[in-house]
Amino acid sequence: MSGLIDAAKTLGIPYNDDFNGERQNGVGRYQFTNENGKRCSLADSFLGDALKKVEFHPGSEPNGFGKVVAVDVRSYAHVLNIIWDEENKKENIAIGVKYFCNGTVREAFIAPKGEVILCGGGINSPQILMLSGVGPKENLEANNIKVRKELPVGRNLLDHPSCLFAAKSTIDKIHHWSGGSEVGIIHKANFEGKIPCKEELSDENTDIQICAMPLRPSLIEGLSNIDDNFGGIILLPILNVPSSAGYLELNSSNPFDQPRIHLNFFEKSDDLYRMISSLKLVREILKQPPLSTVYNVKEIGINDEFGQWSIDGDDISDEDWEKFVLERGTTTFHPSGATKMAPESKGGVVNHRLQVYGTKNLRVVDTSIFPYIPTGNTNAPTAMVAWRASRLIIEDYTRKNSL
Ligand SMILES: Cc1cc2nc3c(=O)[nH]c(=O)nc-3n(C[C@H](O)[C@H](O)[C@H](O)COP(=O)(O)OP(=O)(O)OC[C@H]3O[C@@H](n4cnc5c(N)ncnc54)[C@H](O)[C@@H]3O)c2cc1C
Repeated sequence: MSGLIDAAKTLGIPYNDDFNGERQNGVGRYQFTNENGKRCSLADSFLGDALKKVEFHPGSEPNGFGKVVAVDVRSYAHVLNIIWDEENKKENIAIGVKYFCNGTVREAFIAPKGEVILCGGGINSPQILMLSGVGPKENLEANNIKVRKELPVGRNLLDHPSCLFAAKSTIDKIHHWSGGSEVGIIHKANFEGKIPCKEELSDENTDIQICAMPLRPSLIEGLSNIDDNFGGIILLPILNVPSSAGYLELNSSNPFDQPRIHLNFFEKSDDLYRMISSLKLVREILKQPPLSTVYNVKEIGINDEFGQWSIDGDDISDEDWEKFVLERGTTTFHPSGATKMAPESKGGVVNHRLQVYGTKNLRVVDTSIFPYIPTGNTNAPTAMVAWRASRLIIEDYTRKNSL
């Protein structure tokens, strides 16, 4: 991967030794949430220790919690919908959840002065809300769900579109030329679909990250019959600041039925042209030494035995680039925004304390509350939302207890 860094620097892309530092643009090595060389999830990092603290926290007793079972975690439980207080129908008070576990439907109720906190992720929290009667009237009624609170749940579905470009090397085993870590190139794209100029490459106001990693042929259609030691590199431009937004809606009232997801990638032409701009940059990088010399890197999929794409000469027309992007563009698995935090009059579903409008005892804490998608990967921002939410929950709980 150091060859890639050198190739990018040859084009005037500045080196960046800390993408989490003062500026984000440039080429450099990504930072990871790793432990012992392996990726470490937030659950692995925090949940075990957090549960230990809760179980033995002396302050938990006066509030009525038992010492040992202050937190009861149910694995392999699928939440079906929210249970509402039917005695106070107009107030939409959440009192628990219905869930499916070990072959039966069960119910779990909140502790006194507690609340229901949805954290099913960018797709499933909106789905659970809609299954519980909170969402767009038309879609709920079409699925025979009684509307409790009309809100634009499912709208503003955001994600980072990406478009994979691959190259092979004559060096057989990828391990010969990769230290294993992924490299990033973060840059400002050109809005007309041209290769970014020097000024754009040094602009700190970036909108694309190109994620580089060793090629795993099984990731690419048409290459899956080649074994995974095939040497090569993937360069994946990811549009960090998309203009297009999508939506999701219920397909049915069955909680196990996946919702219909409309990502609307590249609906706005600037998204398309910025992606084309980055792909053109990728091609330029691959032509630079030492990639083109020492590693003898060649594009895959264009004018070769793997290619869906044959072109005359070296240039790909903008028309062909458009087809390329629309055919290969895909998700980066960062769905966000479909229960956005904003004033209700501006399409918000949750307020600044992450509480769902028109309900009581109900919060959403996950990527779906982002009003805008972060200009980068979503795991760390989700952790920040969770941390802030924990403060809000403690504040509200303490306030309720002092009444
Ligand atoms: C393949 C992949 C690669 C990624 N790579 C990166 C990366 O490199 N860097 C990065 O920053 N981000 C990455 N992300 C994104 C990151 O994982 C998410 O942004 C982050 O996990 C979102 O957190 P969340 O709490 O909103 O949702 P999630 O982490 O999805 O948590 C939601 C949880 O709710 C559970 N759930 C859903 N529905 C129900 C239900 N009805 N009942 C009970 N439980 C339910 C799910 O099983 C899940 O455990 C990646 C995502 C994927 C899928």
